[in-house]
Amino acid sequence: MHKIKKNKKIKKEIAKERVKRLLLMANMFHLSNPVLSKRYCRLAEKIRLSVNLRLTKDEKVQYCKKCFTYWVPGKTVKVRVNHANRRVVYKCLLCGHERSFGY
Ligand SMILES: [Zn+2]
Repeated sequence: MHKIKKNKKIKKEIAKERVKRLLLMANMFHLSNPVLSKRYCRLAEKIRLSVNLRLTKDEKVQYCKKCFTYWVPGKTVKVRVNHANRRVVYKCLLCGHERSFGY
């Protein structure tokens, strides 16, 4: 048995896949088990940081970067559109953390 050396690109691809799957599971459990859902988000963020992965625009607003709550618009996150400076503001209803994106 020998170990195949993985290059950075493959590592990143695997991480991407894992993050995607974790966010999917966080989505599945956010109602029945918010604690577990939070754990998945935290793990996803850890994996993401370990390989310096950039999330897609949709993935970026799926969980809170501060308290790792899975974000459900109107339930755990407030989404506000600021037309004046063309930004969408996401405010976590649990910890108050804000993220905003231009459009
Ligand atoms: Zn939060």
